Amino acid sequence: MSRRDRTITSFAAVALVAAAGLSPSAAAPAEKPKAATTPDKVVIIVVDALSKEIVKKYDMPNVEAMMKDGVDTPNGYLGHTGSVTVVTHNVITSGMLPKHMGWTNEGYRDVDGVLGAPGGLYITSNFGSAEMAPLQKHAGYPHLSDYLDDTGKVFTVSPKGYAAYGLSGPGSDDTSVVTFTSGEICDGKRWRKPTGISVPSYIDGPCGSRYWVERDKEYDTFQFPASLYPATDDRYVVGDVPSNQGGDIWATDAVLDIMENQTGEDAWSGIFVSLPGVDKAAHMWGGVNDPEEATPGYNAMTHLEYATETADAQVGRIMDALEDSGELDSTLVVLTADHGSVAGEHFHGDYEPAADYGYYNWYYGDPENDVFYNQPQEALQPLVDTGNIGLSYSDSSLNVWLKDQSPARVAEAAAVMETLPDVTAVWRRDGDHFTRVSGIRWDLMHGAEKLWFARKARELVDTQAADYGPDLVATLPDDTTYSVAGDHGGIQRASQQIPIVFAGGGLSHKDLRAEVRAVDIMPTILRQLGIPPTYPMDGVAYRLPTRGR
Ligand SMILES: [Zn+2]
Repeated sequence: MSRRDRTITSFAAVALVAAAGLSPSAAAPAEKPKAATTPDKVVIIVVDALSKEIVKKYDMPNVEAMMKDGVDTPNGYLGHTGSVTVVTHNVITSGMLPKHMGWTNEGYRDVDGVLGAPGGLYITSNFGSAEMAPLQKHAGYPHLSDYLDDTGKVFTVSPKGYAAYGLSGPGSDDTSVVTFTSGEICDGKRWRKPTGISVPSYIDGPCGSRYWVERDKEYDTFQFPASLYPATDDRYVVGDVPSNQGGDIWATDAVLDIMENQTGEDAWSGIFVSLPGVDKAAHMWGGVNDPEEATPGYNAMTHLEYATETADAQVGRIMDALEDSGELDSTLVVLTADHGSVAGEHFHGDYEPAADYGYYNWYYGDPENDVFYNQPQEALQPLVDTGNIGLSYSDSSLNVWLKDQSPARVAEAAAVMETLPDVTAVWRRDGDHFTRVSGIRWDLMHGAEKLWFARKARELVDTQAADYGPDLVATLPDDTTYSVAGDHGGIQRASQQIPIVFAGGGLSHKDLRAEVRAVDIMPTILRQLGIPPTYPMDGVAYRLPTRGR
């Protein structure tokens, strides 16, 4: 969420605290014998922050049906850090790891001067297409949309702009992106309205029409811990205006409108949608620790139970629409998440009764494209006292871009990071990999967590090893955040273990036992569609089991 979207509000009241069922292939062209198992369209559904843990805890029948009836990946995991929205949406549709993708995390060092003077530090989740497209082009790889726009139009829908522009790529004449503006005033109210790239006329509309949503809301979120990142409008939550619902329903309504309208010469070949509701609730209320009814002034709509139910229903609506139109067999559907959610039982952020104070926990430094975040949490203060932080981003890991990158000053900062609360290890970037420069605090980890750390920590940290990435990374244990009540970003299983499910497209219901990662989704899609890649990707192209094979 960008600075211009933020609402800093003091408040007086001190409130502390399916459907994957395979339809008869009526639409399969008769002239090609293999057509029934060769899809030519792709739908990607990203449920923001949907960890396997969340799917397991909450009732999500449509998601579970896809896992059962489609090709599930029980050993699948995200496979990179930063395990954050602004990174993964671009990993999914590029097949590139963060270290080759142009940015690795919420912080970015503009080493090559793509956006301004070389060396400038930026917050990537503030990027719109004007900033993200140059970075994508500079890194040189194509997106899935660049392949799919040869056979149709490609649409991306996301209430979160930086997720939309990552999923879509820089775009062409045949791509369309639908997201939200930061604010409009009309009819005496503040709203957000659709914006993006080539927004279809049936989605664009006058003041107050379907795809406008209201701003200036509070619900039950202006209290700890939700007010660290509260719901101030109906962008991520569904809201209380039946005619102008936001969040997941907004996005899915747009997807169904696209499916209905884009036929014949204007037919769609790709639809990528990101559903933001689960992420918002998980950040605000601590993921699977959401207190639900115990919340003062409880409004179900902002909480995880409702958010998971809503996201699940939208997955069902999309699958039903594909089935009803006879397109399910010719459409490869991917259901996944951009990261999971770590419940911050060990919380090292600071709290002030001002909305959005979480930003001061997330960021320290003076980035080129935002305000000076100069109120670091107490836990980070020793590192701030070195005077050498250019930018830091702290979530369920700590990531630091130093001003002075000389070996002595890097060593100084690393030594301080080792002493910060709950740090399990400190990692220093050395060219194309990270070197662990501290001991490992096994005493801070539990049994299965130790095993995960031993197997995956280095691999996951190394995916950020680029000169535009952080100089130092500190890993944190399970259930630990420095930012908001529920967060992501690190190597924890709760952050990394996400669903990666393939359905439709004539697939069988056999699971893939491989450790499929987000970066493997793009090459796997291309392989399944029979499209030869024009650029080497980091991901592995898996062959998905189809019916009859
Ligand atoms: Zn996300």
